[in-house]
Amino acid sequence: MKDYETIIGLEVHIELNTNTKLFCSCSTEFGAMANTNVCPICMGMPGTLPVLNEKAIELAVKAGKIFNANINTTSRFDRKNYFYPDSPKGYQITQMDMPICSGGYYDIEMEDGKKRINIDRIHIEEDAGKLIHLKEENISLVDYNRAGIPLIEIVTGSDFRSADEVILFLKDLRAILQYTGISDGKMEEGSLRCDVNISMRAKNSMDLNKKVEIKNLNSFREVYRALIMEEEIQEKLYAESREDEIKEETKRWDETLGENIPMRSKDDEQDYRYFIEGDLLDIHIEEDFIKNISEDIAELPNLRRKRIIKEYNIPIMQVDILMENKIYIDYFEEVVSYGMDSIEAANWITVDILRILKEREITDAIPINPSYLAKLINLIKNGDINRNVGKKILDMMVDINKDPETLVQEMGLIQISDIDELEKVVGKVIVDNPEAVDDYKKGKSKALGYFMGQIMKATKGKANPPKVKKILERKLDEIK
Ligand SMILES: [Zn+2]
Repeated sequence: MKDYETIIGLEVHIELNTNTKLFCSCSTEFGAMANTNVCPICMGMPGTLPVLNEKAIELAVKAGKIFNANINTTSRFDRKNYFYPDSPKGYQITQMDMPICSGGYYDIEMEDGKKRINIDRIHIEEDAGKLIHLKEENISLVDYNRAGIPLIEIVTGSDFRSADEVILFLKDLRAILQYTGISDGKMEEGSLRCDVNISMRAKNSMDLNKKVEIKNLNSFREVYRALIMEEEIQEKLYAESREDEIKEETKRWDETLGENIPMRSKDDEQDYRYFIEGDLLDIHIEEDFIKNISEDIAELPNLRRKRIIKEYNIPIMQVDILMENKIYIDYFEEVVSYGMDSIEAANWITVDILRILKEREITDAIPINPSYLAKLINLIKNGDINRNVGKKILDMMVDINKDPETLVQEMGLIQISDIDELEKVVGKVIVDNPEAVDDYKKGKSKALGYFMGQIMKATKGKANPPKVKKILERKLDEIK
């Protein structure tokens, strides 16, 4: 059997992080009630004219610079004509012959070194509406809130040789989009969607064989599974010398069936009859505009990760948890900027803060002022409160946006570290629990935990645990 290799290329659609749509002032907010973010322009009413959103141009140029592309000083919009209910105008405004960026590359970091992925082009276009099919009632509904939201489409070269390489690229891409503010990159909300094309050929040949395109993949898992599934099918056909049976066609991934379902073959490919969008002027971009944007690009995630590892003495695993969301790592660096120990700060954020966010299903911000977390860590470090009280205060701070020092005062939670006072409490608890003393003397270590619990109860959780433990052990050992 000959050796074959897999050839994969991507077309990634990315919703840009603008407040308003590409050609009108409708909101781009996700999750609004259906058909409330619409106007005559994005509904395609006759007589309306599109007005270009400059922010979209900025973000597309930013993406171009990050992916080392040429920013074309002149680019142009075209109409892609098709009739489908998700497109109220009967055409989509996109860029065909003169995209805003062309050429470019991105290097993914593989275990055995870097691998270059070429970028063919990046162009701007508008998103379509969304169809909702109610199977049981046998009707379809349409929501035009998404119609006209600005997208960029990044088209890569056919440079990927495996599904793993694709996932590596897409994860980097999503992080870059989020860290530089180009897009929120939320795949679950459709902000990042991917079409993949896949074919095979004999290793080291330059053949371009028939490829299968799989449309509209919405998660890394779907991309991965769809590619592996298609790869298996083609591999088998090649192995059995039945590669003639591979059709150049478009499929869609069915998550429930775990299969790629054919949609249409190349023969019935639509003719979009592209022509220049006469309602919009060409886009002319000045060098200064490009320069300003280039200077404004935030630290890219791979560089930031390297810096964080070098600058703060925290385990890589925690670095990766913090880097998962820009909100976390920004927060971490701010807490540390108040002079906090980086290890303590990382622990509080990756364990306690993330627990709170998960419990309360908060995803877009950390609801505790970073200076308050810094103060809280200090209160514990100085022995003013113990760690358990600290956790209670942290929970409280989510609801009451107050300085932890004030909260500790108001709630009377200052830790009891006074030796005389602790001696009294410990003495009383020992006298009150003769059976537990017997257990302790018989070597039952559980008894110690019982005493600690009773002492904490008696002090309403305010006793300083290490001090209590010392006094308790001494007193118990004194009993003959
Ligand atoms: Zn509108």
